[in-house]
Amino acid sequence: MSTTEQALFGCPAPFLDEAPVSWICRLALSQASTPEEITKLLGLGGKRDLDVKFSRLSMDWVSDLCGLDRGCFAASHAVLTSYDRVYRQAPEMLLSMEGVPRFRYCPVCLGGQLTAYFPVQWKFATWSYCPAHGCFMENHCERCLAPLVLPRDLGEIVANNREYLSLRNCGRCGNDMSKREPCLVAEFIPMLADWEQMLMTNGRASISAFYHGYLTIKGWRGKRNIKEVLKLRDKGALHFHGYRLDADVVRRRQQTPRAVNTFRSISHPMVRTDL
Ligand SMILES: [Zn+2]
Ligand SMILES: [Zn+2]
Repeated sequence: MSTTEQALFGCPAPFLDEAPVSWICRLALSQASTPEEITKLLGLGGKRDLDVKFSRLSMDWVSDLCGLDRGCFAASHAVLTSYDRVYRQAPEMLLSMEGVPRFRYCPVCLGGQLTAYFPVQWKFATWSYCPAHGCFMENHCERCLAPLVLPRDLGEIVANNREYLSLRNCGRCGNDMSKREPCLVAEFIPMLADWEQMLMTNGRASISAFYHGYLTIKGWRGKRNIKEVLKLRDKGALHFHGYRLDADVVRRRQQTPRAVNTFRSISHPMVRTDL
């Protein structure tokens, strides 16, 4: 087994489900460097989603370079390599704004992390709510409305002449985003159409499918190729282009309750994934 000479020291280990780009931000801070310099060192760049690009690297090479245990990227790598198999046909499964990859967040998760980080599932449009805390994903900073865009330099002075050094703080105004009141799914169930609740369940199952590298469908026998996620998408059983469900959307509905009657309907029968 060949090893790469360790080039960086004192590198933070990634959290089990951490998105690589989140780890890159924390790594850059630990090295008094910038995410741009780190991505250059790793040979990453270009317009393609940085997390997807990272998943194409040898994880052993990255681990050795940073003096980390091999296998420390296993979970996020499993999700991203499976997703990469459908990435070209389904780029809309990743969140973006004007072509820039972005994340959503669960304020309760963010508040409970000793070191703030963004899990890989937070970058998927299909991941509309946090199953651990039963709340819809938040789309932006409550104070300044800035979207969550990575990479960003955690050592940068962003507001009030301060650097905030943590992904818990907004990259534009420094606001502690974990302080946001969670938007609980249970309170909004009456405002959700049945097919939307199906999309929420299936969206969550899709991340599990990417992690395992296959999917199973309730009522159908056996494991199915991960590319069948595309068939589910085409049947309207997964998140589809132009549709969004998150805390902003349901809060708006609360203000205009009748909007529930104006949702588009889906003529195809739903297929529930069961993973
Ligand atoms: Zn959560
Ligand atoms: Zn802000």
